[in-house]
Amino acid sequence: MITIKKHILNTDDNVIPVSFDASPNHSDAFSEGLPDTIVIHYTAGSSLDSSVNWLKNPASKASTHVIIGKKGEIVQLVPFNIKAWHAGISEWRGRSGLNRYSIGIEIDNAGLLEKRADGYYSNFGKRVDNSQVVLAPHKYGDKEQAWEAFTEKQIEVVETLCLLLKENYPIKEIVGHEDVSRGRKTDPGPAFPLQKIINRVLTGRKDDESSKPDDNVEYHAINYGVVSADYLNIRKEPSTNGRLASDPLPKGTKLKIIEEKNGWLRIKVELQGWVSQRWVKEV
Ligand SMILES: [Zn+2]
Repeated sequence: MITIKKHILNTDDNVIPVSFDASPNHSDAFSEGLPDTIVIHYTAGSSLDSSVNWLKNPASKASTHVIIGKKGEIVQLVPFNIKAWHAGISEWRGRSGLNRYSIGIEIDNAGLLEKRADGYYSNFGKRVDNSQVVLAPHKYGDKEQAWEAFTEKQIEVVETLCLLLKENYPIKEIVGHEDVSRGRKTDPGPAFPLQKIINRVLTGRKDDESSKPDDNVEYHAINYGVVSADYLNIRKEPSTNGRLASDPLPKGTKLKIIEEKNGWLRIKVELQGWVSQRWVKEV
């Protein structure tokens, strides 16, 4: 189990490996009643080691409290009672300079990818296998882009860590760097299930049955369809017993088809759910 002792992570069983590698890039201690926010990032770096080295380098003028590697290992760089330099120019709910209020969690992930003729590439020129590519628009954008998938272990460890931080600090909010530095930053992006983590950590909800990282993540090439029945039920599971996801969709509703499974199509309108394939005409 991981615990926090004197603002530094500890483990008694190494199930989640933790280590401390101090960065000189930090300010003084948080004020009373803080930190109350967690900011989630991706590193856009080539490896955990390279990101740790960069965030320890005085030249970077940047740091974070922790970085989570692909296997879920955690490297802490700054104690949790001290301000790290992860958010930069930022603003959220009337407060600016989020470093003064928040704990930074970086995740080792390439982030936004570039499409070339033979596949997808990271900003550092490494080819990313198609199975690790998530195609989705950013929450503040409308065009579909390619992002490197996070590992399941990383997502699990972020949740565990956020729960632990909430037990130890007055955490009230979890946000993405993209939210507090809107327009300037895109991390953690649509491949990261931020809303799910918020639900689980801050509201204790565990009602998501989807195995997908997030509702707006699309793994496959998109097809389009249009509802051919007068009204079409949209369900949360691909079964006639599936719970209804919303009011029925009227004839003519345009659908984005994300996935096909046993006569059911996972579709997206403004919301997402399952409809009978029989009543969708692919266009
Ligand atoms: Zn960031």
